[in-house]
Amino acid sequence: MMHRLRTDFHLSVITLLGLCAIVGVLPFAIYRFWVGLYVTGIIDSAIVAGVVFAVIYAWKTGDTSRTGLFLAIVTCGGAVVATHVGSAGLYWLFPTLLTSFFLIRPELAVVVNAIAVALLTLDGSAFASNVDRWTFVASCMVVSLCAYIFAQRTETQRVQLERLATRDPLTGVHNRRVMEAELQLAVNSQRQTGMSFGLIMLDLDHFKQINDRYGHNIGDQVLIQLAKLVLDCTRRADHLFRFGGEEFVLLLTGADADGMRAVAENIRHRIQSELKSPGGQVTASLGCALLAPNESWPAWLKRADSALYRAKAQGRNCVIIDSGEEHHAEESRTNSSASGISVAPDAGPV
Ligand code: GH3
Ligand code: MG
Ligand code: MG
Repeated sequence: MMHRLRTDFHLSVITLLGLCAIVGVLPFAIYRFWVGLYVTGIIDSAIVAGVVFAVIYAWKTGDTSRTGLFLAIVTCGGAVVATHVGSAGLYWLFPTLLTSFFLIRPELAVVVNAIAVALLTLDGSAFASNVDRWTFVASCMVVSLCAYIFAQRTETQRVQLERLATRDPLTGVHNRRVMEAELQLAVNSQRQTGMSFGLIMLDLDHFKQINDRYGHNIGDQVLIQLAKLVLDCTRRADHLFRFGGEEFVLLLTGADADGMRAVAENIRHRIQSELKSPGGQVTASLGCALLAPNESWPAWLKRADSALYRAKAQGRNCVIIDSGEEHHAEESRTNSSASGISVAPDAGPV
């Protein structure tokens, strides 16, 4: 629970609003029933009930965008309705105008707030004079404008921070931290639904020589091209991660052994024919493993890594599929002569 509150910003705001409604509005609802103000008491109770229902819905479904919109409408609408039964609604509108910016996109918050303020202004019954009415409109506009600017800046920074924490800055693909979380999700998903998952570990052959001969910048360009090329070979449901250095991991969703082999062979072939350094052709070795029943993700990753190690040992520019049994690995080596190229075990691709 604490983990979800820490990692899901919108869920934590929705939960906080639920607590505020219980602590800040519920006592008023009870007090109003106590002193016989039943209409106001019912409005306050309806707001609290709506907010609590929305919080429970958000926790159960994880759908914070629809819940946020519902809450923004309930709180602003509640404040507007409350102005008809006393002056308190006007005061409540100011915190609800602010809250909208925490619950929904800034542009949408402006629309919801504008509708609430317009309804009150056109109706006019909540104001003693025209001066009161336009003073109210002006103060609402100032509050909304400040909140809008603040929300826009915060949202931009949040997106930037999220990108920094989850993406590899060079290639733009997800980093190792995201990979670990996604592999764990795949393991959970397989245990719950039986869906199959494949893992391909890819490492460029003799990449160090490219750096040594042509410089780090050229090496970087090769890595950027490689990530683009591999992404081009994958479906939307597959995920590519930079594991470190010139090693990448590709998670295939719903793949069987034949599918995984076909994807790996296609990637290997396209790298060999399309990825170039100033010295010429660049090749890659690939190790693959299907997730075994009840296997942990580190054990799965280790099998893919061992298969990659065997691909290197067998002369590089090839695909090795791990069968799941430590000493009976099914090895699908693409013979370099069969693919029309010549790669000596220790010869560089450059
Ligand atoms: P092998 O065929 O056995 O994989 O040989 P290799 O030379 O590719 O393997 P090795 O692991 O020895 O070299 C990896 C090199 O990758 C070493 C390091 O300089 C380089 N490298 C790691 N990260 C980056 C990066 O972000 N940019 C560049 N340009 N080079 C990187
Ligand atoms: Mg390498
Ligand atoms: Mg390496």
